Amino acid sequence: MKVPPKLLSFLKEEEKFFIATHISPEADAIGSSLALSMALESIGKVTVLFDKDPVPKFCHFLPGYEKFTNVISPFLTSDFALILLDCNTLKRAGIKGPNFKYSVVIDHHQTEEDFGDIKWVVPEAAATGMMIFYLIKKLGINITRDMAINLYSAIAIDTGTFRYGNTTAEALRIAAKLVGAGASPAHISDNLYETWSQERFALLIMALNTLEVEGNIATTFVTKEMYRKTGAAPEDTENFPAFTRIMKDVKVSALFRELDDNYWKVSLRSKGDINVALIASRFDGGGHKNAAGYVVKSDFESAKQSLLKALLILPSP
Ligand code: 5GP
Ligand code: MN
Repeated sequence: MKVPPKLLSFLKEEEKFFIATHISPEADAIGSSLALSMALESIGKVTVLFDKDPVPKFCHFLPGYEKFTNVISPFLTSDFALILLDCNTLKRAGIKGPNFKYSVVIDHHQTEEDFGDIKWVVPEAAATGMMIFYLIKKLGINITRDMAINLYSAIAIDTGTFRYGNTTAEALRIAAKLVGAGASPAHISDNLYETWSQERFALLIMALNTLEVEGNIATTFVTKEMYRKTGAAPEDTENFPAFTRIMKDVKVSALFRELDDNYWKVSLRSKGDINVALIASRFDGGGHKNAAGYVVKSDFESAKQSLLKALLILPSP
């Protein structure tokens, strides 16, 4: 993977960076941002780490996570170069209004929009963490243990810990280097997958009880009432759609999460060549071939029917 020389010289020349990642962040968003911030600060740059949403609890093992802020107002944004990581629009980062000195996009999403003075988008990269790994190396910066933990976690989450179709030899080679630099796969997997609260587990049980399978499409949903009953939070639904994809004949799994009355967040997961990013983009969302999402304003039944209709017209793989 080639890092654009223009991006490297830009990072060397500029002094202040406002690193922002997408709403509802996960370990690729948070881990990549933290590693980039640590690398830039090690060469004397000033960085701010921003996410509109709080860092979810399942990312609290990532070194430096507490440095994230969710307010922009204290910063004179016109002094900063914005770096959007793991997303490519201001909307996905939940940013409205402020003017930055420059804007840079570093992302691996298939669904791309025309934003950014400098853009580096590599849809073939399994994770933004892989891109940041190369970027740090190219800047001649040594990868510390903390950077390695953040980058390994980023790559692990986006590859389903090296199980999904995006797990390439390159992803494994980078992971091996990160382990060599001090990331512990067992420690990271424990933190990513085996630290659920009882509330989160109770919510999963409730969600699984809503399962309906139509053809090769599995749907589940989570309502506001379920959060109230279990004491779990919306961030606790991370990874829920992966559970229903476990079934042999299921090719697409969809989780509908109630954000508000008649307002749903839909998370899609698919197998093989079924491209759910295309489906999500029809509803003004986006993502990757096998993991994508969008929001929809309607009642649950209509939201579900419109998804089923959109999936029916997909060519079979
Ligand atoms: P999740 O279903 O876990 O929220 O997201 C799966 C993938 O789809 C992630 O790569 C995420 O960035 C992307 N994604 C989810 N929701 C949206 C959305 O509303 N808009 C866009 N552009 N991408 C989304
Ligand atoms: Mn990612």
